[in-house]
Amino acid sequence: MEKERGSKLMIYDSENIFAKILRGEIACDKVYEDDFALAFNDINPQAPIHILVIPKGDYVSMADFTASAPAELIAGFFRAVGHVARALELEQPGYRILANSGANAHQEVPHLHIHIFGGKKLGPMLVR
Ligand code: AMP
Repeated sequence: MEKERGSKLMIYDSENIFAKILRGEIACDKVYEDDFALAFNDINPQAPIHILVIPKGDYVSMADFTASAPAELIAGFFRAVGHVARALELEQPGYRILANSGANAHQEVPHLHIHIFGGKKLGPMLVR
């Protein structure tokens, strides 16, 4: 599926693994779900708590999502991220959220996802 984004053409690969999870074709270890978002444990956790939150829609990246998604979905998606952080009582002692976009950030799955890391002291923001 191809979607016009103003002057830019964003390609959404509807066969990406998170699209398959959203369609129920592949199982996930679900943490939370509502009308706007699905949260599940990362299959290869990088911290004691490592959860992915994905919007329910065909969006490649944060730039794509914020340019094209309806306001209700944008609000609902970010509320879901906050809900997961509260539900897991991560606000104290703290946690990190991260979204990789594109090759320089090593985005592996071309469906917008926010990583939530927690459960230990996470160290400096970036590995140098
Ligand atoms: P990114 O590099 O930001 O695109 O991150 C993709 C993440 O998706 C990685 O942390 C993977 O471990 C994770 N991942 C890939 N496939 C699955 C899956 N089937 N279920 C859960 N997490 C997955």
